Amino acid sequence: MDFKSKIRVIEDFPQPGIRFKDITTLLKDGQAYRAAIDKLAEYAESKGADLVVGPEARGFVIGAPIAYKLGKGFVPVRKAGKLPAETVQAEYDLEYGQDALAIHKDAIRQGQKVLVADDLLATGGTISTTINLVEQLGGKVVGCVFLIELTYLNGRKKLEPEYHVFSLVQY
Ligand code: 5GP
Repeated sequence: MDFKSKIRVIEDFPQPGIRFKDITTLLKDGQAYRAAIDKLAEYAESKGADLVVGPEARGFVIGAPIAYKLGKGFVPVRKAGKLPAETVQAEYDLEYGQDALAIHKDAIRQGQKVLVADDLLATGGTISTTINLVEQLGGKVVGCVFLIELTYLNGRKKLEPEYHVFSLVQY
């Protein structure tokens, strides 16, 4: 499957100079979406993950179907202030902007093997913050999966060799 041909690139979004990778064109193609999730789930299974964690909002679109496919649980990471029960939080920088992410305190048990999933790896800030939250709760990150990796932003260098990284499409 040529996944790259399913992804649309939007120039100057959300600000001038950014070439935004729009995954909605892949998601609406049922065969491409399923094939992409199957590949990421295969990797997740090889790592022995027993829980999938994904940051809002596109991390849900990738992480939740992987969890479903594996018959494992899914845990959402959300922008601070959105989750209803007690949380732990961590601040982070984006490719554009800054924010804080949160996870429910009781979402992960000590020693659980966690796969972290998002749509895209850019600088690695979002995923590093997600990993930070998982580790605050005692989870062990066994892998990080992405539909897309922007290799020129070196996010992988921030993660490896401590964490295993897998991406389907590279720019
Ligand atoms: P990072 O934190 O690695 O710098 O940026 C990755 C995060 O920003 C991901 O959660 C991703 O959803 C979002 N993001 C940044 N650039 C793009 C892009 O070009 N396309 C999409 N779909 N998401 C992006």
